[in-house]
Amino acid sequence: MNLHEHQGKAILSQYGVAVPQGIVAESPEQAVEAAKTLQAKTGTTMWVVKAQVHAGGRGKGGGVKLAKSLADVEKLADQILGMHLVTPQTPPEGKLVRKVLIQQDVYYPGSSDIREFYMSVLLNRKTGRNMVMYSPRGGMDIEAVAAETPDQIFTEEIDPKVGMQAFQARKIAFNLGLSGTAYKNMVKFAMALYQAYEGADASLFEINPVVKTSDDNILAVDAKVVVDNNSLFRHPDIKAMRDFNEEDPIEVEASRYDLNYVKLNGNVGCMVNGAGLAMATMDMIKMSGGDPANFLDVGGAADAKRVEEAFRIILKDPNVKAILVNIFGGIVRCDRVAQGIVDAYSNIGDIKVPIIVRLQGTNAKEGKQLIDESGLKVHSAIALEDAAKLVNEVLKN
Ligand code: GDP
Ligand code: MN
Repeated sequence: MNLHEHQGKAILSQYGVAVPQGIVAESPEQAVEAAKTLQAKTGTTMWVVKAQVHAGGRGKGGGVKLAKSLADVEKLADQILGMHLVTPQTPPEGKLVRKVLIQQDVYYPGSSDIREFYMSVLLNRKTGRNMVMYSPRGGMDIEAVAAETPDQIFTEEIDPKVGMQAFQARKIAFNLGLSGTAYKNMVKFAMALYQAYEGADASLFEINPVVKTSDDNILAVDAKVVVDNNSLFRHPDIKAMRDFNEEDPIEVEASRYDLNYVKLNGNVGCMVNGAGLAMATMDMIKMSGGDPANFLDVGGAADAKRVEEAFRIILKDPNVKAILVNIFGGIVRCDRVAQGIVDAYSNIGDIKVPIIVRLQGTNAKEGKQLIDESGLKVHSAIALEDAAKLVNEVLKN
């Protein structure tokens, strides 16, 4: 699950990572109130107005602006709220901005010794360890830094059994070229950042930029956080941060039924039991001249109720021109699945797209017979090639 910047910063704060003071606003009036509160708290006379959407690159897209007066805050909040922010990480039509983060300016104008670093904590799948990736060249696109000056990107492997060690944090601060108070603050920052990553069961904490202020504080100015969905059961506070507005509405509905559904851009919907079979089925759709409209794993219990829910979800996608059901009857019997399909079909009623059902495994023949005798416009197959041919034929018509 992705988090908004302000949510990520709230978690960072809990773990002792220093962040600039900020308040979320949903209207220009609230933005001005927030700016006044921040002024009273920190003495700041400048603020940044930051669009809260699940996408990076907001600055370049016009979603992060510096306000030099309260009037500026009002004007910029008005401008950014309600805009469709387009960045390289959004869909082409952009993302609607519903909230802005008003934050104290920590770049104090006129001061010259500000520095921007990059730091992230993530899982290194090759070594099965967590890894801190960091660079003295922060603030810019880290992919560009990696391509142009790969020697400017450092990594530090962390053994998950013992967590980050102080000597590792000192090495990071040293490699970033810091000394004195800034060095000490960076050591603290890196240690606390790792603890936040581990404590929140995150798969990514990316801070770009980490800023060294002119008074040698080290602050997380941005925060991109991804939390492992499988851990949400033990983090009710993080689970509550989920923003359904940022997700595909069909995927949101599917998750309510515990269906593993991912929307794709093709024209053949598919319903499969098991993730591996789902991947193979998507390949098969490609080879038969179609394009998968989704990934959908109904899981072990392909009973009538789940099949019906899955059909309803797939049919919500207007691009779907045909549906391929590919079920392997291992624990579940094919004839029961077939009955489920027949029941679901008649319950839903008005299904206009052709459905191809391929059942293999226990009672596959009985299942095919059930479908063939149902009188419904459902094509059935037992062999995978036959199902592929059927998909190809219905797409031609
Ligand atoms: P992103 O573009 O989505 O990665 O958003 P960031 O939070 O990284 O902000 C984009 C840029 O805005 C940063 O790289 C900074 O250069 C700038 N910025 C962020 N916070 C401040 C601030 O407090 N003061 C000033 N002057 N600039 C800031
Ligand atoms: Mn950033």
